[in-house]
Amino acid sequence: MIPRRRIPLPAQDLWTGVVSVMPRRNGLDRARVARFEQAFAKRMDVRHALATASGRDALMLIVDALGLAAGDEMIVPAYTLGELMPILQARGLRLVPADIDPDTWNMTPDSVRARIGPATRAILAVHLLGAPCAVDAIGRLADAHGIPLIEDCAHAPGGQINGRPLGSFGRAALFSLEATKAISAYGGGMLITGDAALAERAHALLSVRTSGHAALRKAAFKWVEEFGVRSPLYGPVARVLFDDRNAGRFEAAYRGAHARLRGAADKPPQAFSAFQATVALRRLTQLDARTARLNALWIEMARQLPPRFTPQRRDAFGTPAFYNFVARFAGDVRLLRRAALRRGLDLGIGSEVMDDTARLLGYDDCPRAAEVFASAVLIPLYDGMDARRLRQVVDILHAAAREVP
Ligand SMILES: *Cc1c(COP(=O)(O)O)cnc(C)c1O
Repeated sequence: MIPRRRIPLPAQDLWTGVVSVMPRRNGLDRARVARFEQAFAKRMDVRHALATASGRDALMLIVDALGLAAGDEMIVPAYTLGELMPILQARGLRLVPADIDPDTWNMTPDSVRARIGPATRAILAVHLLGAPCAVDAIGRLADAHGIPLIEDCAHAPGGQINGRPLGSFGRAALFSLEATKAISAYGGGMLITGDAALAERAHALLSVRTSGHAALRKAAFKWVEEFGVRSPLYGPVARVLFDDRNAGRFEAAYRGAHARLRGAADKPPQAFSAFQATVALRRLTQLDARTARLNALWIEMARQLPPRFTPQRRDAFGTPAFYNFVARFAGDVRLLRRAALRRGLDLGIGSEVMDDTARLLGYDDCPRAAEVFASAVLIPLYDGMDARRLRQVVDILHAAAREVP
């Protein structure tokens, strides 16, 4: 079975984990985290970077540091990670979705403009799945209305527009260092900003502690999970877990397990540890090489796809980063997935790709988001995939697509 995604498991990470549980001086830990924060800020071409326990913690820290309060309106993408919505709503924010472009899968300056009203206090723009959105034009629009722009760069570290790194366009940006994302620290996040006052407020709000056992627990979970995905047993198990009857339930249970690993949302923010800083700094150093490798594979995959697949357009506004390979399929995606699974290929569909947040928020006027949600397919393309494996994926897609009317 070719899994939907695979995460790299460098042996170095294991050693870093083992060494990090040995007794050590706290001061050394903090210095290592600070070194990573400085390297990250430099790479993203901003003045301030702050390590957090997760991408969503970084987002909430931005919300609080901006002084957003209950009743304020925030414009959000109509198609992005749905789990962000209840977290923002818990602050009393009223979320208004801006529809997306069906080619880039990103919100547009026009769709954002249509949603700006007297109560709008922030705009959250995402560079979805590594594709830069028109963040310079959206930024100008935000400036003209005096509204802060927040960039969600969870999928986009290393992407750029005219040589300027994504994340440096808005008032502040968040990144995720989750195990499945480009710079994995087995969990964690980054807040970056060029605004010194905002950085200072965020710093004051974040209780910096340096015990990192949450990340080690998560790393252990990920290592076990990844060995499972690579074992011969994975094929038969995946066929049962991902069939039509079980896929929804499995997805919910899996997200639930992750939420528990993160810890309760009302607990104080977890620390970012020296273990995470060491691992993340290593990944940051390798980021450009990895992005180049995967973007080359992306082009190869796009070239070989059967005719009814339309890959996401990623280069409309800049140079893309890499997160996942996604395409729209003209046909019933459930039938496609079933046919592919039978042939040993695990595709993601529906909320396994991203969520129709407009619908989640009770809006029915974002037809493009609904369209993309219904036709989106996540096709395996990951680090370490070679030309032969890629060919296998493409062959199965051709055969599976032929079975779908
Ligand atoms: C992963 C992700 C986040 C948040 O990251 P966590 O580290 O998992 O909290 C934010 N936005 C998007 C679009 C994401 O995919």
